[in-house]
Amino acid sequence: MLELSTPVQFVKGIGPRIAEMLGSKGIHTVEDLVYYLPFRYEDRANPRRIAELRPGEMASVIAEVRGSMLMRTRRMPLFELTVADLGAAPSGSRVPEAPAGLLFRAGAVRTRSTLKCLWFHGAHLKDRFHAGQVVALYGKVEQDRHGAIQLIQPQFEILGDANEKNGGSGMEFDQSLEVGRIVPVYESAAQAKLSSRWFRHTIHRTLDQLAPDLPDAVPGTILSRLGLPPRREALQQTHWPDLGESLGLLAEFRTAAQRRLVFEELFFLELGLEMKRRRLRAQPGIRFAIDDKVRQAVKRILPFHPTVAQKRALKEIAEDMQSPAPMRRLLQGDVGSGKTIVALQAAAIAIENGYQAALMAPTEILATQHFLSARRILAHTGYDVRLLTGSLEPEAKRATQQAIAQGEARFVVGTHALLSEGVEFARPGLVIVDEQHRFGVMQRFKLMKASATQPRAGDAGGNTAEPDVLVMTATPIPRTLALTLYGDLDLSVLDELPPERTPVVTRRVTDERAGEVWSFLRKQVAAGRQAYVVYPVIEGHEDEHPEFDFAGAEPARTSLKAAEQMHRKLKTEILPDLRLGLLHGKLSPEKKDAVMRSFAAGELDVLVSTTVIEVGVDVPNANLMIVEHADRFGLSQLHQLRGRIGRGSARSFCVLMTTGKVSEPAEKRLDAMVRTCNGFEIAELDFQQRGPGELFGTRQSGMPAFRVANLLRDREMIELARREAQQAMAQSDPDITPQELSRALVHVKTCWQRRYGLVEVG
Ligand code: ADP
Ligand code: MG
Repeated sequence: MLELSTPVQFVKGIGPRIAEMLGSKGIHTVEDLVYYLPFRYEDRANPRRIAELRPGEMASVIAEVRGSMLMRTRRMPLFELTVADLGAAPSGSRVPEAPAGLLFRAGAVRTRSTLKCLWFHGAHLKDRFHAGQVVALYGKVEQDRHGAIQLIQPQFEILGDANEKNGGSGMEFDQSLEVGRIVPVYESAAQAKLSSRWFRHTIHRTLDQLAPDLPDAVPGTILSRLGLPPRREALQQTHWPDLGESLGLLAEFRTAAQRRLVFEELFFLELGLEMKRRRLRAQPGIRFAIDDKVRQAVKRILPFHPTVAQKRALKEIAEDMQSPAPMRRLLQGDVGSGKTIVALQAAAIAIENGYQAALMAPTEILATQHFLSARRILAHTGYDVRLLTGSLEPEAKRATQQAIAQGEARFVVGTHALLSEGVEFARPGLVIVDEQHRFGVMQRFKLMKASATQPRAGDAGGNTAEPDVLVMTATPIPRTLALTLYGDLDLSVLDELPPERTPVVTRRVTDERAGEVWSFLRKQVAAGRQAYVVYPVIEGHEDEHPEFDFAGAEPARTSLKAAEQMHRKLKTEILPDLRLGLLHGKLSPEKKDAVMRSFAAGELDVLVSTTVIEVGVDVPNANLMIVEHADRFGLSQLHQLRGRIGRGSARSFCVLMTTGKVSEPAEKRLDAMVRTCNGFEIAELDFQQRGPGELFGTRQSGMPAFRVANLLRDREMIELARREAQQAMAQSDPDITPQELSRALVHVKTCWQRRYGLVEVG
C-alpha cells in the first residue's frame, strides 16, 4: 500500500535514476505523481476503420504500419507514413469490444484500405517507424487533391509490434491500458525518456496501490454542496475516466472529477490569501480622520469634475483609511483613466492628518513626471513635496533624507531609492506604489515589509501602526487574474475615461499604401500636430524569430524595417523638410531625456522610436502614431503605445502598418486594436492568446505555480473557490466543523510553500 507522502522511488518500476528524472519535473512523492494529470484524452474505445473516416473530423485510428518515407521537397522535409487497418472486420462495422487480443494477433487478415499520414519538417521521425508496428493515431482528417483521405501532423503513439509478443518494447505492458477505453495522454518528461505511455502505466499501477480512502482536507460539506467527488475517486476518474464519460467535458477539464481537483488547488490558495488578509486586518493601522476640514482640502485638489469611477474609488480608499485596519488596495485603471489625481487625494487625507505620504514609481522618468505634476497640482496646498531618486547629488539626497526623517517633507515621490538604507520616515501614513506593470508582486511584499520595519519616531499613536498602502497599476488585467495575482489586496477599478477624450481612430494598412500614410502625417504636422513612428527593432537585420506559420508552411524570411535605418531614410528621402528625432533604448539616459524633452517642447515634428515610448511620455499635442510591422507587437504593448496619443482634445489617429503575410494570431490582435480602445477587452484577448504565465513571467511575478488549475480555463472556479474560502474563514457555514476548518488550515500551510511556491502564510 502506498501513502501519498511516500517518495516515488518506492513505487514499483521506479529506481533511483528514474526518480531523479521525475525530481527534475517536480515529482518527488506519490502525491506529486498522481497529481501529474493528463493534458488530453483519446477516445480509443471506438477506434475508426480507415474506410469510415470523413474529411474535417477529429479521429482516432489504431492501425498497422506499412511503410514510410522521408521526402525532401523544395520547401521542407516531409515525412509520410502509410498505415492499414488491423483485423478482418468488414468495413463499416465497429471493432469489437476489448479488441486488444485481436489487434495484436499476428497475421490478422487486413482490408485493402490504407491511410497516409504527413508530418512537415518530419526528418526526426525517419527512424521511428517500421512495417508491422501497431500505432495509435489521432488527428484531423483531411482530403488531398486527389480525394484521398489523410491525417496531417497527427498525434501518434507506437503501441507495439504486430509481429512480436508484448509489444516489442521489452517491457511487460498491459495492452488493455492502450485501447478499448478512453486513454489519458501525458506530457512526456526527461527528453521523452519518460513517455506518455510510461506515465500511463506507472500512474495506473500507483493508483491501484493507493489506499481506498485518502485524507481529504477539503471540508466534506463544501464538496457535497458543490457536487464534487472525494479525492481518491477524483484522481481515479481524472486519469482513467469511465467509458461513458463525455469527451467534450474531459477535453475542457470540466468533469466532476477534474473540477474537484481544480477546486482543491484553488480553494487552498484562496484560503491562504484569506488568512493573510485577515492577519493583516488584525494588525493595528492608522485611523485617519475625515472631517469637514479634510474633506475641503481633498476637494480643492481637483482641477476638474471627477468621473463616477474616480469618485467611487476615492470613496473606497477613504473608507479604508478611516478604518483602524491597514489599507492594502489595488487601484486598477487603463492608461489615462486618471489614477494620479485619486492617489493625490488619498495623499492629502494622510497629510491633513499630520502624516507623510510617499509615491514610488518604477523609473526615474516616471518618478520625475509624478513629482512635477504633484508639485503643480498640490501647489496651492503649501505641502512640502520632495523628489528622491538614485541620481540625486549626494548633498541634495542627504538634505532630502533629513527632511523626510524630521517629518518636514510631507509628500515624497521617488524610485526604489525610497526603500534604501538611510531613508526613514518620521510619520509614514500612506505609501502609493505606481506599478505600471513593472514591479513584480515580490517587490510589493518587500516594500510592505520595509515600511513596516521603519522606526516610527514621534508617532503619538504608538510605534507599531502599519501605514496604508495603495498600489496603482495601468495593466488592465482581467478580474480573475487580479484576484489571484493580487489576491490579498482589495480592488478598486477605474473603468471609465475622463470626458472629452475622443477615442483614437485606428486603421490597418499594408505598407503598399505607405505613400498615403506619409502624406497623412504631413497634413497633421502642417496643422501643427506631432507624430510618433514606431518600429519593433533598433537596427535592421533579418528576422530571426519569424512567427511560425500555422499551416506548417515554411515561414517567409522578411527583413524588418528598423528605427535607425528608417530614421535615416525618413529624414533624407521621405520627410526631408520635417524635424525628426530618434529615440531608442540604447541611447544614454541623458540623450533619451534630451530627445523626449525637445519632442515635448514641440521642437520636433516626428519622433521615430522603438517601444521605449511605451511608458512615461506625455505629449498631448502628438495625435498621430504610425506603427510599422504592427503584427510584431504584443497586444498589450500596442495598447500601451496607443495610450501615448489621444491625450489632447484633437482627434487622434493610430495607423497599424504591416508588411507581407500576417499570421492568424497577429490578425486577431490587429483586429482587436481596430475594434476597441477598451483596455480590459484587450487584456482579456492578450490573456487568451498568451496565457498568464507569459504575461507576467510566472515566477518573478509571484504567480502561484499551479499543477492542475489554469487561470484562463478555470476562471469561474477561482471565483467559486474564493467565495467558499471566505465563507469558511468567516465561519458562517455552521455545517463546517471547527475540526474540518483547522484541518484545512493546517493543509494550507504545508502546500502554500511547497506546491504554490509562494511566500509562506502563518
Ligand atoms: P493615469 O495615471 O491613470 O494614466 P492620469 O492620472 O495621468 O492617468 O490622467 C490622465 C490625464 O487625464 C491627466 O492629464 C489628467 O489631468 C486628466 N484627468 C484625470 N481625471 C480627469 C477628469 N475627471 N476630468 C478631466 N480630466 C481628467
Ligand atoms: Mg499615470
